[in-house]
Amino acid sequence: MNRPVIVVHGGAGNWRPERRKPGLTGVKEAANVGFEILRTGGNALDAVEAAVVCMENNEVFNAGKGSTLTIDGQVEMEASIMDGKTLNAGAAGLLKNIKNPVRLARIAMEHTDHVFVTSTAAEKLAEVFGLEKTEPLTELRLRYWGELQQKLKREKGRHYLPKLKKLLAAHPNLFETDTVGAVALDSDGNIATATSTGGLTLKLPGRIGDTPLIGCGTYADNEAGACSTTGIGEVAIKMVLAKTTCDFMRYGQPAQEAAESSIKLVNRRMRLKGSMGLIAIDMHGGIGAAHNSPHLCWAYMTSEMHEPLVALKAKIVKDTA
Ligand code: ASP
Repeated sequence: MNRPVIVVHGGAGNWRPERRKPGLTGVKEAANVGFEILRTGGNALDAVEAAVVCMENNEVFNAGKGSTLTIDGQVEMEASIMDGKTLNAGAAGLLKNIKNPVRLARIAMEHTDHVFVTSTAAEKLAEVFGLEKTEPLTELRLRYWGELQQKLKREKGRHYLPKLKKLLAAHPNLFETDTVGAVALDSDGNIATATSTGGLTLKLPGRIGDTPLIGCGTYADNEAGACSTTGIGEVAIKMVLAKTTCDFMRYGQPAQEAAESSIKLVNRRMRLKGSMGLIAIDMHGGIGAAHNSPHLCWAYMTSEMHEPLVALKAKIVKDTA
């Protein structure tokens, strides 16, 4: 019998003061929902899915309802899920109105021969399996979108989307105009992870980030551990960050050391300050969380605890060693 553990995150980045309290309450609720499944003998896959659904339904997070907007003011959500026992994985992207993208990722994993669906396949599967639809756009995200657009035009110096800034300066009429995740270990020793997002604010329509890419935003292997990433997706894609973190665990590092090793690697190779955060779990139930961003909203729960531990920071890794 293993000691069940769940770790969840509600996104890296810079958490504005108005979102901090609801964010911490939200990750606590998600950890509780996921852990209840583990506590009653349920499996890790069900636990991570339920925890992510809980955060997709909470509009404080950039996933499901509350998703951030593309440069032209649309919502395009994406999610993925992975079973560490079988290495089965599923992902869905470019979703406009599915209430719970992680459910569609699981359907792709369990009911198709593919890993990643978008467009027609995603829509048809959602229809056939009767997935609920919703209007994910919220007042809060519309306000942030307006503010960030202004900033993109005005701000001097380096922006987190430097090429977009340049593109818009050259072609002003080109366009008219915090991810969630969970990793868990169940009492049978199986590991799973899931991640869901609205993507990067002001992303180009059609842009796919790290979240639905297996190995980049999400990875789980019973022989190593599991990881869910958050931050600038392009960094996680170039570093294949979730798999890299799992490989550190595969070759012996406990989850916390592996999480820090990955962020150190990001610092050394990408030189993009404040870009990433991640959570991890190793095959022995060790917990890891690290980031180079100002915040990482996260929570964890084990069978020795009465309630989840929540925080807006984990280990911030600044050095490049
Ligand atoms: N990683 C996500 C993306 O780039 C964004 C986030 O973590 O908030 O799409």
